[in-house]
Formats: sequence, structure tokens, C-alpha cells
Amino acid sequence: MYNVEDILRNNGLRATAQRLLICGEILDAGHIDIDTLYARLKKKIVSLSLATVYKNIHALMEAGIVSELGVEGKKTLYELKLRPHIHHICEKCGKIEDLHVETEELKDKIASLTGRDITGCKITVYGRCSDCK
Ligand SMILES: [Zn+2]
Ligand SMILES: [Zn+2]
Repeated sequence: MYNVEDILRNNGLRATAQRLLICGEILDAGHIDIDTLYARLKKKIVSLSLATVYKNIHALMEAGIVSELGVEGKKTLYELKLRPHIHHICEKCGKIEDLHVETEELKDKIASLTGRDITGCKITVYGRCSDCK
């Protein structure tokens, strides 16, 4: 299992109580929007403000610990950057699943097809989840 304290330290951030809680909630949820995250955190830290959550999320993104996921028609989702993966979105129920496909190979393929220097890639594929199939 992942240890959020190690993740923070390995990325050069101090493991404050707030960051530990935020990362723990994101890890539990997999993908979570800021309002849901805030509502869950608020149950644990009553004095927490939304601005503080945003501030922490931005620090976590800058440190490369958290990444944003934009899905058409949905609020921005946040997730922990653990292993490279692509996203599968179910067209029927909207469920987002992580597919652990080797994105390095895809990146190289796109680079060689287009002659571009590709430094990163975010791939989302659509279809039906196993429940909706
Ligand atoms: Zn589905
Ligand atoms: Zn994901």
C-alpha cells in the first residue's frame, strides 16, 4: 500500500497534518473534486477553509504529488500521481477507472509518428465499464 507520509517526503514536502489528511482522502477516493474533498475534510477539521484546501492542492500539484483530471461536463478531479496510467470513462454511468497501460511506449510512438518532442501525456479513453457492458 501507499504511504502518504513517504509520498510527501519523497517529493520534498513537509508532511503536515493537513497535507496528510488531504492526500489520504484523495488516495481513498481515487479521483475526487474539490467540493467533495472539502466536505470530507471538513468532518475531520471543522475549522478548515476551502481556500486552505486549494492552497494545499496547488502546493501538492507543484510538487508533482497531485495531478488534475479534466473531464468534459464534470468538475475538475484530483488524484495522486502514483503510477502512470490512462483513464477510462464509462459513457453510460460516468465511472472513471485507471487503466495501467505503459504510457511511455505510447508517448514514444506518438513522438515518432509526429516528429514532436513529447514530454508528457494524458490519455482518456471512453467506453463501457464492466458494470455497464
Ligand atoms: Zn458504467
Ligand atoms: Zn487516475
